[in-house]
Amino acid sequence: MLDAPADPQKLYKRIKGELLAELMGTPEWDELGDDLERRIAHIRVLAENKMMRLGYVPRTFIFRATCKVCGPIPLDFEVVSEMESCPWCRIGGKPETFCLK
Ligand SMILES: [Zn+2]
Repeated sequence: MLDAPADPQKLYKRIKGELLAELMGTPEWDELGDDLERRIAHIRVLAENKMMRLGYVPRTFIFRATCKVCGPIPLDFEVVSEMESCPWCRIGGKPETFCLK
């Protein structure tokens, strides 16, 4: 279990490093092929999901949207209408406060 460092970027980097170590050599990793960018993108998504579960808003979540379940939420893509569900629903709830910068 992770302790909570004050610096979200340090935590994010540490999580990415841990995920990389966990994934290398697994069938999931092999399925991504030899495309380095694809592997990096995969690690990024997993790390962001983990950050979200820990209550952090990923830096790429620069848009605001409204989810029918969660209410106002930060999001990493722009949506014009109210969403039926969102990434925060999937991980079990949005953070108490948004740290959008
Ligand atoms: Zn939601």
